[in-house]
Amino acid sequence: MHIRTFGCQMNAYDTGKLKALLAEDGFEPTEDMADADLIVVNTCSIRDKPEQKLHSFLGEARHVRRARQAQGGDVMLAVAGCVAQQEGAKLQRRYKDLDLVFGPDAVTRVRELVKRAEHERVLDTDFIDADDYVFADQVDPDADASPTAFVTIQKGCDNKCTFCIVPTTRGGELSRPSAQILEEVRALTARGVKEITLIGQNVNSYGLKVAGERTFAQLLYAVAELPGVERIRYTTSHPRDMGPDVVQAYRDLPQLTSHLHLPVQSGSDAVLRRMKRFYTRERYLRLVDELRAARPDLALSTDFIVGFPGESDADFEDTMDLLGAVGFHTSFSFRYSPRPGTPALKLIDRGDEVPADVASARLQRLQARQRTLARAAMDAMVGTVQQVLVEGWSRNDPGVICGRTGTFKTINFPGDVALVGATVPVRVTTAYTNSLKGEAVA
Ligand code: SF4
Repeated sequence: MHIRTFGCQMNAYDTGKLKALLAEDGFEPTEDMADADLIVVNTCSIRDKPEQKLHSFLGEARHVRRARQAQGGDVMLAVAGCVAQQEGAKLQRRYKDLDLVFGPDAVTRVRELVKRAEHERVLDTDFIDADDYVFADQVDPDADASPTAFVTIQKGCDNKCTFCIVPTTRGGELSRPSAQILEEVRALTARGVKEITLIGQNVNSYGLKVAGERTFAQLLYAVAELPGVERIRYTTSHPRDMGPDVVQAYRDLPQLTSHLHLPVQSGSDAVLRRMKRFYTRERYLRLVDELRAARPDLALSTDFIVGFPGESDADFEDTMDLLGAVGFHTSFSFRYSPRPGTPALKLIDRGDEVPADVASARLQRLQARQRTLARAAMDAMVGTVQQVLVEGWSRNDPGVICGRTGTFKTINFPGDVALVGATVPVRVTTAYTNSLKGEAVA
């Protein structure tokens, strides 16, 4: 099996589950598509660009299939993920040789679906009732290869941010039983994993709708108590739902790393209202102050959408002002991308669309400012000693190992790869735009 994954951590995690489940039927992963008997593309539809990646990938995959058929063999082609959920039958009509199309909720049914697809074309984009939904507990077979791992804590989202397609493609929010989460963390630390990243669309609302279940803060404390857990990260947060109990966890839990991704999307209250984010810039800034009081070295990253329908010059200046006021270490910023079936499309229909050239100019300005802030944050680390979790060889320098600081910075330094999985003190000697260089401190 060859699985190509586009998009977010949730997709990466689902791919791990697909590998684990299909391995039970004898499928082995291969990096080389030409060797595969089953090709799966796990897709993303958060914006138009990632959606287009599917079509270029299918071009490659169909080429492999035709070559295999010419030799008398065959390859099964499958599309999974958010575009499969969003486009489903349309994809099957467009690509006559697609054997299987299945949405995120069907990941746990993949073995049965692949067996059926040997005899007929299969489409499965049904959402599973909350009472019947089962989170797969098989551990990603590649988990041994890294001291870090993702663990999902929920699926779907009940928020209705007007630009977002996730509730359409991943369905309503469902919290995974905390006992199952803790069991998966135990299984991962038993295999040498030291850093756990808890993932969900809106982790802060975890457990709130399940009687007797832990809250997100309580889950953090429970994971921190487990033997072998050295570091805890989580994503994605929602500023409206982040409460004082999570802020307090930054005081109490040294395992909680000093990096937080806290999407703000815009610095303008008018735009935040149109996005239905349900917090104000003032509330966001106050939350940042509370978090920094609890953890002074906290490195913040965020998401920005520019050119959202109706965004005025003054609105954009509010965004630029908030960017400077917080001093984000990094941010992921994009021009607004109209997504099928999302409420924000109505704003376009009534003529509030921001011209593409205006949106592009705003994006360039924001990204230029962010680069300056990011560089300043990197430069400020030179001379400091960072606790680094070693993850493997540096991608670029042979004989140099690589890891991450608590603030989620990549750092390369001379050392033995036998240190993978160890947390070692490293003095930062040089800062670059996206990474650091250092030397191990004896
Ligand atoms: S919180 Fe909003 S942006 Fe995030 S997944 Fe849910 S609807 Fe989308």
